[in-house]
Amino acid sequence: MRGYGMFSVNNPGWLEKERPGCGPYDAIVTPRIVAPCSSDTHSLHGGSGPKENMILGHEAVGTVVEVGAEVKGFKPGDFVVVPCVTPDWLGLGIQHGKSFSHDRRPFGSFKFISSEDGVMAEFFHVIHADANLTHLAEGVTPEQALMTVDMMSTGFYGVEMADVRYGDTVVVIGIGPVGLMAVGGAALRGAGRLIGIGTRPNCVKVAREYGATDIVSYKEGDVVEQVRELTGGGADKVIIAGGGKDILAQALAMTREMGTVASVNYFDAADTLAFPTLAWGLGMVNKDIRSGFCPGGAVRIQKLMDVIRYRGFDSSKIISHTFRGFEKMEDALKLMDSKTPDLIKPVVYIDDLPGAAA
Ligand code: NAP
Ligand code: ZN
Repeated sequence: MRGYGMFSVNNPGWLEKERPGCGPYDAIVTPRIVAPCSSDTHSLHGGSGPKENMILGHEAVGTVVEVGAEVKGFKPGDFVVVPCVTPDWLGLGIQHGKSFSHDRRPFGSFKFISSEDGVMAEFFHVIHADANLTHLAEGVTPEQALMTVDMMSTGFYGVEMADVRYGDTVVVIGIGPVGLMAVGGAALRGAGRLIGIGTRPNCVKVAREYGATDIVSYKEGDVVEQVRELTGGGADKVIIAGGGKDILAQALAMTREMGTVASVNYFDAADTLAFPTLAWGLGMVNKDIRSGFCPGGAVRIQKLMDVIRYRGFDSSKIISHTFRGFEKMEDALKLMDSKTPDLIKPVVYIDDLPGAAA
């Protein structure tokens, strides 16, 4: 089968690979719509370590083409939503609590573009289909469902970790697709003042639609000063969904005492994070720092689809570009990599693979 990915770091292209095998509890899926992600481009550029001959992509909805003998809830032809995090539910790491993302090792539940090929292929393998795949909920479009599998799950997780409560002043650093979902999630959780930090005009527009009350540009003046001034000394909750190695220090400095910084950001393997102890109240003002990875599994996605279905949250507002055809995955990933000013999230409709008929 063919797939778009990386021969090695900074060396993308079309790969020819064996079609993956299907274990007794697993499924083989063919993609119907895929969305490239900043994590794919980080991987391509070596941000998560050296990788070779790896098909990229980890956000997809698709059609089941094969299931293992023990799979009860799915059959070939079923349209499915595929979480980007698909734990091996027998991994004991899950029982340590907090997260399902680390089944047998750190990030172990993130199979695509890590321990397994990604979804930008004619076929991809999903472990433990009954616990990881889910059917499309009524009243939810395939595009909305596609935006739950990573963007909404991750952005909402930032909100959950920050423990946003009614009336909280919340800052979301970064209003790319992940941060935009955090803005939407914080609004649903009852945030009061809700400040988004970013500059791209499309993102600013959607941030306001999702409930941002203020927008701050990190390119115009000191961002910490701006937020501290707006909030009279600091926000209750700061969610990090963008920025580089200085962003944790900035987030701490814009958080009030007894507040919380929650990060879903990716930090480069080569970087060291540092912050002045004063920004953290000398370690004694109950300012929490939390971080985590996108939660996965079927129930998570079902709950997010319920937010769309019953609360009217439209996760597809972040889709800014659409492509048609399997071959266009290359262009979509290149667009993701080039980050044009009008880009939020591209999607590719795969209407020329066998699953498209289903
Ligand atoms: P993105 O599209 O690159 O958006 C990043 C946002 O951060 C943009 O709004 C950008 O502003 C803003 N930004 C950049 N530098 C900044 C700075 N110095 N100060 C303040 N804001 C700054 O990224 P994304 O796809 O939304 O992803 C956000 C982060 O989440 C990435 O690090 C990604 O790898 C990570 N991620 C994590 C998980 C997880 O499970 N934890 C899952 C998916 C993604 P502009 O408007 O100027 O561009
Ligand atoms: Zn992603």
